[in-house]
Amino acid sequence: MYEAEVGDDVYGDDPTVNRLEDLGAEMLGKEAAIFTTSGTQANLLALLSQCERGDEFIVGQHAHTYKYEGGGAAVLGSIQPQPVEMDELGRMELGSLRTYIKPDDYHFARTKLLCLENTYNGRIVPSEYIEQAKQFADRHNLKMHLDGARVFNTAVKLGINVKEITKYFDSVQICLSKGLGAPVGSLLCSSKVVIDKARRWRKMLGGGMRQAGIIAAGGIYALENNIQRLAEDHEKARILAEGLSKTDGVRIDMSSVETNMVFIEIVKDTGRDIQRYMKERNILITGHRHIRLVTHLDIESSDIDIIVSAFKDYLR
Ligand SMILES: *Cc1c(COP(=O)(O)O)cnc(C)c1O
Repeated sequence: MYEAEVGDDVYGDDPTVNRLEDLGAEMLGKEAAIFTTSGTQANLLALLSQCERGDEFIVGQHAHTYKYEGGGAAVLGSIQPQPVEMDELGRMELGSLRTYIKPDDYHFARTKLLCLENTYNGRIVPSEYIEQAKQFADRHNLKMHLDGARVFNTAVKLGINVKEITKYFDSVQICLSKGLGAPVGSLLCSSKVVIDKARRWRKMLGGGMRQAGIIAAGGIYALENNIQRLAEDHEKARILAEGLSKTDGVRIDMSSVETNMVFIEIVKDTGRDIQRYMKERNILITGHRHIRLVTHLDIESSDIDIIVSAFKDYLR
């Protein structure tokens, strides 16, 4: 990053940003890519560039694109979300999805896009489902967007090329700043037409960054070095989960631990503040009873033992 060659990305002449975008597009099997400030911005660009005012997108009730992005598509794009129940693997039942697609009639918003998220809460969305969803989308003339903030976790876990997943989607968002470990940024990858539109929207949103090569260099590093090592995060999550599952007072569903996330429930009331207890031991957590733990490249194997011991001590 220190040595990154920079230009002005608003003029499209930052060589490092261009290299990152080319690399991302190539890796995901898409024509083009655009570097964004965040995953939220990239998901928003995907919606703004594929839906018009008065269109709608179908999205899971608990999906990031619906629930955790401030209602951006509605606020900034006049695009209506149609949230739908989803199961623990991020699936919306396709039979019932059909009933959410609105007829071509001026009473209704025009249903345009179907959004999936993979991994979803660290769970892998089954490939057969994605394939069925694609057939469904084609039948109903919908585009498909993947919130792939953590899609490389899925690819590494399944031992497949990420293109085997992304090939079903018209657009894909990947976070460089999550498990991949870059400090900032995401990529939206899609057709050249969609990315050209996204570039205009990004500028409007204030996401046109000038000498952004400095942060793009971190993204290139992440894509070139930090994908296969996600398997280590998965292994550490499994060890963490096993350790915690043997701890009295912790409830955990081991089958839910597929990648880098561990969800636990603290069933025993110790009468103490768990956050403060952990903080005193240099462990930062959020939540009190339902806690999400995520392993990543700054967590060492030795940290896992320390964390498990801290939970054991707390509950004792
Ligand atoms: C983090 C995340 C995003 C958004 O990324 P930001 O960079 O935090 O805006 C989108 N989708 C999922 C599933 C995420 O985990």
